[in-house]
Amino acid sequence: MKIGFIGLGNMGKPMALNLLKDGHEVIGFDTFPADLDDISMAGSAADAAIGADVVIMMLPNGAILQSVADQVLKTMTTGAVLLDCSTVDLDSTRSVAKLAEAAGIIPIDAPVSGGIGGATAGTLTFMVGGSDEGFAKAKSLFDTMGQKAVHCGASGNGQAAKICNNMILGATMIVTCEAFAMADKLGLDRQTMFDVVSTSSGYSWTMNAYCPAPGIGPTSPSDNEYKPGFASELMVKDLRLSQQAAEMADADTPIGQMALKLYEQFVFDEDGNGKDFSAMLPRFEKRSRR
Ligand code: NAD
Repeated sequence: MKIGFIGLGNMGKPMALNLLKDGHEVIGFDTFPADLDDISMAGSAADAAIGADVVIMMLPNGAILQSVADQVLKTMTTGAVLLDCSTVDLDSTRSVAKLAEAAGIIPIDAPVSGGIGGATAGTLTFMVGGSDEGFAKAKSLFDTMGQKAVHCGASGNGQAAKICNNMILGATMIVTCEAFAMADKLGLDRQTMFDVVSTSSGYSWTMNAYCPAPGIGPTSPSDNEYKPGFASELMVKDLRLSQQAAEMADADTPIGQMALKLYEQFVFDEDGNGKDFSAMLPRFEKRSRR
């Protein structure tokens, strides 16, 4: 396929390289292009979209997404797919989808889970919103860039799935860290705590696969001085999106709200900026109840 790829940052660049490796023709555009290896670059987003079967976007936020979509929709071919893999607010996703449909373009939102490691290895999970036709057209690209793509329903449902997942992730990480710090104070050995919880009803991805306690469970950022991984400030972004969506939908999410408050405090008032989101554990170790 001929692919326009807009936003070649930490995630976009390795995703584009995997598409190139798979034999696709990739034309990129980025406002601050770093070292882009073999990716050919256009002079603008609109130019990168000319004649493309699919235009992929991997951008920082909803405002930038809307502005880029506005530019590429002017030059895209009717019937082509506009595939947004960024994590953004639902309003932006749905308004881009409306504009695309009005222009005869098929919109797909497909935010990812798996981080930079998954983007490089081609093992991302895509959570996909949009039509059956769009999903079918993009499926082979999901297979190249990832290991799994779940069609979640109409436009916006990919973003909805992503922010629900990450609200669970943030809240679960916090309570896992709280429990380790409490277990220390109760005199319970960390390895024993892991052995019990990882095989009992308190088990979770954060405990079993990404344990925040160094030296326990499979290797994770806690074994590398909490270098991300998944940075705490990205968790703040995703939790903010979840609470924005909760406001929009009038959903009661007290734990998600509290998780956002704690990660904001950790990143903006404490020393969490630039640390993996599992660094909540050393944070709790230092604290007492009052
Ligand atoms: P990044 O900041 O490294 O990359 C974004 C790129 O977009 C940058 O290179 C930037 O120059 C470019 N850009 C900004 N404005 C532009 C414009 N108007 N036109 C063209 N290019 C423009 O961010 P990232 O880590 O690659 O993340 C991208 C998206 O993926 C975000 O929405 C993020 O939330 C999501 N995400 C990131 C991770 C992760 O671990 N980094 C994991 C899952 C999802």
